[in-house]
Amino acid sequence: MAVNLNLDDIRIELIGDDERGFDFLTPETLAPLTELALPTRSVLSAYLDISPDEVATGQVRLKLKNMARSWQESIEDKGERRAFDEEVSRVENYLRYELKEPGRTLVIFSSKAADLWRVFHIPVRIRTRLVWDERPYLRPLLTVMDEYERYGVVLVSREESRFFLFYMGEIAEYSFSLYDYVPNRHKRGGWAQARFQRHVDDHALHHFKTTAEIAARLAERDNWQRIVLMGTEENVARVREYLPKAIQERVAGELPANINDNLNTIRDKVLALEQAIERQVEARRVEAVITAAEKGKNGALGYADVLLAVQEGRVDLLVVPEGLEHPGWECERCGGLIADILADPPKACPYCGGPLKEVEDVVDLAMQKVLSTGGTIEVLRGPIRDQFLKEGIIGALLRY
Ligand SMILES: [Zn+2]
Repeated sequence: MAVNLNLDDIRIELIGDDERGFDFLTPETLAPLTELALPTRSVLSAYLDISPDEVATGQVRLKLKNMARSWQESIEDKGERRAFDEEVSRVENYLRYELKEPGRTLVIFSSKAADLWRVFHIPVRIRTRLVWDERPYLRPLLTVMDEYERYGVVLVSREESRFFLFYMGEIAEYSFSLYDYVPNRHKRGGWAQARFQRHVDDHALHHFKTTAEIAARLAERDNWQRIVLMGTEENVARVREYLPKAIQERVAGELPANINDNLNTIRDKVLALEQAIERQVEARRVEAVITAAEKGKNGALGYADVLLAVQEGRVDLLVVPEGLEHPGWECERCGGLIADILADPPKACPYCGGPLKEVEDVVDLAMQKVLSTGGTIEVLRGPIRDQFLKEGIIGALLRY
């Protein structure tokens, strides 16, 4: 018999025993923030490094204070200044009294005027900064969201299947609200076929089919870019065979696992696979950039060439070692970026002649520009990163 699955009834949530407590970034979680805009500046966005060292030495609070000071100097209106100070205090108090564990990056959006207080714990590094504006400053989060691939994980036994989303090194399990109607339900939220089955004989067959169907539909709905199948070789093969061809092509690996494996075990297995895949992708992309640049065809290496291509909207793929930062200038008229690599700093924008303002980091701005012109970003994290970082290299594949 066919089962009518209502995917609206399939929720995703972090399982309670995950004490790392990172937040998943999805277009849905960010939607209320992207839509928010106030008539005056009243939203504080804070990106803070909360790695153990920074928290233990109090650096995180010191940096917040310093960043706040430079904003305070530029806010002339008294009322606005008071509102700003209040938001900064809220963030300070959070750091002082509520931050329980160090992590990687803490992102806070705070606005009394908009009745807004949102905290995100992000498991990857994002540059520290403080922004005071009419709307939440989301670009760094959107950049991160774009850079990481979403892995769907399907764990299957003969009777049961569990589904996970793996993203930025963290994992969450899908829980099924449908399953809640089954008396005698398990504590966790996997899918069990039994109650829909009249004939015990083809029970398993039907179960593999349904599992494949759920996987295919979740893959579409939640944009699983890669899929990992887990379980015994035999069970995994059955599910795979029922997956539609387009979905089959996204299967990145098959891993042995037990249906009762805990979340950490599953995460570690998928993480190892993800890192191996990511290293291959990085190596391939770096080689493509170097080859293209050497041939002088659709490739760029170094700040001058890459930033010119960014300005012209020609970057298809930007390759940046994680942690690379470089000061420079941004044109106030055309948004053009110039890296500080010349002995004589430019007096005007080389693209349009407009006035320039100093910026701390042209790399970050270049990444945002590439994304807004439909390009993608490869942040190097594997062994190849160190070599690129040491040489301060930035590279790009170009559309034309
Ligand atoms: Zn310009």
